[in-house]
Amino acid sequence: MVNKKIAVSGPSITSKEIEYVSDAVKNAWYEDANIYNDRFERAFADYIGVKYAVSLPSCTSAIHLSLLAMGVGAGDEVIVPDITWIATSAPLKYVGADPVFADIDRDSWCLSADSFESRITSKTKAVIPVDLYGNIPDMDSIIQIARKHNLYVIEDAAEAIGSEYKGKKAGAFGDVGVFSFHGSKTMTTGEGGMLVTDDENIWRKVLYNRDHARKPGDKLFYNQEVGYKYKMSSLQAALGLAQLERIDELVQQKREIFSWYQAYLKDTPYICLNSSSLEVKNTYWMVTAVVNPELEMEKEQLMRLLDQHNISSRPFFYPLSSLPAYEFESSKFNYREYNEVSYSISPIAVNLPSGLNLTRDDVKYVCDTLKVILKTRSLNNRLPRRCNDE
Ligand SMILES: *Cc1c(COP(=O)(O)O)cnc(C)c1O
Repeated sequence: MVNKKIAVSGPSITSKEIEYVSDAVKNAWYEDANIYNDRFERAFADYIGVKYAVSLPSCTSAIHLSLLAMGVGAGDEVIVPDITWIATSAPLKYVGADPVFADIDRDSWCLSADSFESRITSKTKAVIPVDLYGNIPDMDSIIQIARKHNLYVIEDAAEAIGSEYKGKKAGAFGDVGVFSFHGSKTMTTGEGGMLVTDDENIWRKVLYNRDHARKPGDKLFYNQEVGYKYKMSSLQAALGLAQLERIDELVQQKREIFSWYQAYLKDTPYICLNSSSLEVKNTYWMVTAVVNPELEMEKEQLMRLLDQHNISSRPFFYPLSSLPAYEFESSKFNYREYNEVSYSISPIAVNLPSGLNLTRDDVKYVCDTLKVILKTRSLNNRLPRRCNDE
């Protein structure tokens, strides 16, 4: 038994980050007030391979500004996967639009292209595919369907910085891509976000709306409309720039942590881990275990047992359509039946410790503990079928 509690997520901070933030505290004022934001945005756009990047206080605000720039509003429908953090869908309410929840794919756990297409109506204005836990959905099909029906695409890449699909970076697929730098994410600014796009028109609208609707070049303090105030501080931008300069190392570390889990769990029939396909470079933001359904172990129970062994974990997201927050929206449609994959995986899956402070020994301890816990659930000592087997 280890004494220290093993955290579920957290960043890697070195002297480089401390140096950059200290420099920003001392020097990023007066005519240099924006130097770190400018450098961070330029470097971020180059890293993703797009023209524009706008630093923001959160990914939630990035989605809000995207919807505003696209003119999504009252009476419009936007399709989101049923499995994601509520930040993906919450901004729909801010603009008066209605969420429609589509099912996830059984392997990638990301938006199912078929389910997405089946939920399109004459009111649908946009879709928000999510790169869940560092994976990427079948983007070719999703983009093709969206183009065919004239829908905007907002790619929620909050969990997938550094992931790739057919060699292209996560965040570069939609009309806009959005990122989060919350303390739990692969790179952090404490709190923070980024919006990226190749569309100059969208970029200009985002800049306008995030700073109280001021027209560039207009008289000072002469606002055209009531806008929003969504800016990232230069101290956060300095932290973000330092993290971005280490991004290959951070991504490599995430992938190595996953490879440790894979090695220690490769022979167990009790659980399946995140999938990866040949097309996707998965960065495994959260190593996630789906318990073999034959064991009949619910995620809440497994989390309690892990906690007794000083291991923190998190539940696989509850389907958004099952949340009290969406009781009204969900009364209009039988989501439980239609989003069958979401409703079958969610109750039996947990996020395992995936923080950047993990050691190989920590991972071995987590895996050994998992195996002991799950072994007691094997009926009559009979091994269940492996969950990937037919
Ligand atoms: C973390 C996260 C967000 C929200 O990020 P904030 O910066 O906290 O607003 C959005 N979508 C997904 C999928 C996330 O995991």
